[in-house]
Amino acid sequence: MLIFFGPPGAGKGTQARAVSTELGIPHISTGDILRESARKETGLGLAAKARMDKGDLVSDDVMCRIVGERLSEPDCRNGAILDGFPRTLGQAHFLDQLLEQRESERALLLNLQLEQTQVIKRLAGRRVCSKCGEIYNVYLNPPRQDEICDKDGSQLFQRPDDNEEAIRQRLLAYERETVPLIDYYRSKNALHDINGNGEPEAITERLLNFLKRT
Ligand code: ADP
Repeated sequence: MLIFFGPPGAGKGTQARAVSTELGIPHISTGDILRESARKETGLGLAAKARMDKGDLVSDDVMCRIVGERLSEPDCRNGAILDGFPRTLGQAHFLDQLLEQRESERALLLNLQLEQTQVIKRLAGRRVCSKCGEIYNVYLNPPRQDEICDKDGSQLFQRPDDNEEAIRQRLLAYERETVPLIDYYRSKNALHDINGNGEPEAITERLLNFLKRT
């Protein structure tokens, strides 16, 4: 199991997608799962959307149930890449127990590091393909044609939580809820820091090289 940490905008989603393709294990993005439920207008999805759009976290109960169910599906038998989970100490304890039950599996925790000024630039410029989910950035990694996905020609959109106020709130939630958990894993020597600066492809190379060595 690969578990990605890092502030919002550090590139977890972009890198988890790329590594998932390389290694052939599923990418589980809790943010994507919540956005998909919101799009389908399920009760859970609509409640989550209200919180997400403000940049607040969704409750541990809901998140642990979603991840527990997803990891029990057959395609996760040989592992998975977690992106966006765990985000709180409660979620980390849940995951620790779950990993204990999946005895034979090794867990690698990767911490993508990026300074706050870069984080804000990445979030404010982010655009996502409405069809395939490919991630672009209007400043750093623009599509060939404005607002159109290079891969499938679909329209790009800006996430509702990529506005200034929600970004501020997400960074606060990260500091408050997730940094303690990173410190906890760091103190157990279980965390691997990866430099998150640079072109997406260069960071993927960095990650794959690291995984080969470990
Ligand atoms: P980012 O990492 O860029 O903030 P995500 O797509 O991972 O974006 O998550 C978007 C939003 O979904 C979060 O701000 C939060 O509201 C909700 N969310 C996702 N994962 C979790 C989680 N593990 N616990 C609580 N809320 C979550």
